[in-house]
Amino acid sequence: MDLQPTDEQQLIIETVRRYVREEIRPLEADLDPDAGNLPPEEHQRLVSKVKEMGFYGIDIPAEYGGPGLDLTTRTLMAIEMAQHRAGLYAPCYDTFGGSGLAQLYEATEEQKERYLYPTLRGEKRGFFGLTEPSGGSDPGRAIQTRATKDGAEWVLNGAKLFISGADVADYGLIFARTGGPGRDGVTCFIVETAWPGFHVRRIVHTLRSARYATEIQMEDLRVPEGNILGALNKGFGIANDRLSRQRVPYAAGCIGVAVAAHELAIEWSKHRETFGEVLASRQAIQWMLVDNEVDIRTSRWLTLEAAQKADRGEPFRTEAALAKLVASEAAGRVVDRAIQVHGGMGVTKDLPLERWYREMRIRRIGEGPSEVQRVIVARDLLGRGR
Ligand SMILES: Cc1cc2nc3c(=O)[nH]c(=O)nc-3n(C[C@H](O)[C@H](O)[C@H](O)COP(=O)(O)OP(=O)(O)OC[C@H]3O[C@@H](n4cnc5c(N)ncnc54)[C@H](O)[C@@H]3O)c2cc1C
Repeated sequence: MDLQPTDEQQLIIETVRRYVREEIRPLEADLDPDAGNLPPEEHQRLVSKVKEMGFYGIDIPAEYGGPGLDLTTRTLMAIEMAQHRAGLYAPCYDTFGGSGLAQLYEATEEQKERYLYPTLRGEKRGFFGLTEPSGGSDPGRAIQTRATKDGAEWVLNGAKLFISGADVADYGLIFARTGGPGRDGVTCFIVETAWPGFHVRRIVHTLRSARYATEIQMEDLRVPEGNILGALNKGFGIANDRLSRQRVPYAAGCIGVAVAAHELAIEWSKHRETFGEVLASRQAIQWMLVDNEVDIRTSRWLTLEAAQKADRGEPFRTEAALAKLVASEAAGRVVDRAIQVHGGMGVTKDLPLERWYREMRIRRIGEGPSEVQRVIVARDLLGRGR
């Protein structure tokens, strides 16, 4: 495996790094420590800048007018884009644009006209509704939301929990049971949030500063047959494909924050004096910094391995699970050590460390908890679930 970025990738890394350091970080000095958005005029200005750089719509495939990046380049960019206070859940405050929900690229032309293209133009927003109050680790079995056929429509009843952004979305994907128990009885529906019977019941406050999660209630929500995404009872495949691919940049975001926290700790240790010497001279501190380095390098290796396998068209589900598992756990340790090196300053809102510490804790649960990643890897090791 070649971990050395190509010349083109190196140029992209440096461009994004400069953008984060010169454009994003200075703005954060004037924002609330928990801010999830930029002031609209700044956002607009930076979107224009990203468009000039040629990266706007970062996840949009080339045939839809996006930059058409491979996953390795996207991963290298995600590592850079996360290196600011809000970087874990609002990397670069969305100034690189969204791609819409990845599953919508599999939609019919009519569905794309209604949902995908307006999303790519920045006119509509979607959510991804898989998890339910009955559980998210094993959604194929846990899903209790029911869809029953009534003429040319389906009628949905049930609830979803922890759904990010449904409070500000125009539409979303709802996975509902249309068949028997298990994975093969789940269908994916595109639903509009303005339709009667769709309710965002509450905003769920979590450790995360930005991007509220929500609880959704569906009461006799009528969905036209034409809004089934993919095939009847095959919705779970759609959900699963997305999850594996998503885990790679998700891991990369963790690495980015770890790199930034590590840099802060190194810098602080070189200047802060206790007992007549700088912290960096103490072996206890040096070992923390070395452990950070080990965690970051291991995570980077595994994440780039997953990305490169995906780019070669090889199966990468196990590698994506390993990347997500190791990067989210390792980055949590790095941020924790960086706080320790900073002492009291580490837990103030003057530094980004406390926000990273809170938000990083979610990364071991979101996109599939660590235990579920281990289940995926174990299945592969034991020759099942290929
Ligand atoms: C802030 C936030 C945003 C989210 N956004 C979304 C979203 O937009 N859309 C969406 O669909 N979901 C979303 N989720 C849900 C997330 O994907 C789930 O929380 C996650 O999949 C775990 O499901 P659960 O919380 O129901 O835990 P459960 O499934 O109840 O599991 C509880 C715990 O049990 C352990 N566990 C589970 N299975 C096993 C096993 N086989 N062996 C050993 N231990 C196990 C794990 O430690 C797990 O954390 C979000 C969650 C959060 C916190």
